[in-house]
Amino acid sequence: MRHKIVEFRHVSFRYGEEHPWVLKNCSFAIYENEAIAIIGHNGSGKSTIAKLMNGLLFPQEGEIVINGRSVTQDSIWDIRKDVGMVFQNPDNQFVGTTVQDDVAFGMENRGIERDEMVRRIDNTLSAVGMQEYRLTEPHKLSGGQKQRVAVASVLAIFPQILILDEATAMLDPRGRTDIMKTVTRVQDQRHLSLITITHDLQEVVQAERVIVMNEGAIWDEAAPRDIFAKKAELRRIGLDIPFVAALSEELRKAGIPINREALN
Ligand code: ADP
Repeated sequence: MRHKIVEFRHVSFRYGEEHPWVLKNCSFAIYENEAIAIIGHNGSGKSTIAKLMNGLLFPQEGEIVINGRSVTQDSIWDIRKDVGMVFQNPDNQFVGTTVQDDVAFGMENRGIERDEMVRRIDNTLSAVGMQEYRLTEPHKLSGGQKQRVAVASVLAIFPQILILDEATAMLDPRGRTDIMKTVTRVQDQRHLSLITITHDLQEVVQAERVIVMNEGAIWDEAAPRDIFAKKAELRRIGLDIPFVAALSEELRKAGIPINREALN
């Protein structure tokens, strides 16, 4: 039995009393070294879930437990050592004047000593194939390279959970494939739990388990092919035919058997 690394226990959240509930009584668990995709229509609460996982937000009801610790104001600095997040727009994530400064920044904040920092910069930039750009200014990189550096900066903290929140959305198909290959390799090496919030079908198919959000609730959670078998219901919650049709194609390419009758 794998170790539970993330647990949402009856979590409800809203952005203030005058706002509607964004998450309603959500419960789910994510395990060590598991690859999860979170999908759902725009506004269904996916990004909010990511922000709750590293204490950028706190739920009004319920509890979130990360690696055995409840997420509270007192625990967020420990929690953030375990949870690394990469967002959609890499330009908003850069703070350093060179790639290596940027990777160092998160470590400096956490008081990691200098020799260890140098080792980790080397190690993580190699892991994402960006070591030769160590001294480059981040703004000179392509979108895909920027996202690889953003991943390296997060990996340098040695998180146990890596969350990609639409992190490939601004990349071309090749850039997406490239970054997902990199991340999947590192996930295997480090036994990370990988949580991908995405619209990209290739990424959904690669997940072991898909969590489908609808109107702030968990609509379903299952293996990609089982989710896909519910074509008509998916359409009703705003994940429409082009999405499903393309997903079918991706499943076929990945050699995952699908029930043809369920596609009609
Ligand atoms: P998703 O990632 O699935 O698109 P989000 O978690 O970003 O969904 O948003 C869920 C809901 O919360 C949406 O209705 C959105 O408008 C609302 N929301 C998100 N951020 C804020 C905010 N800072 N203040 C108020 N409402 C917000």
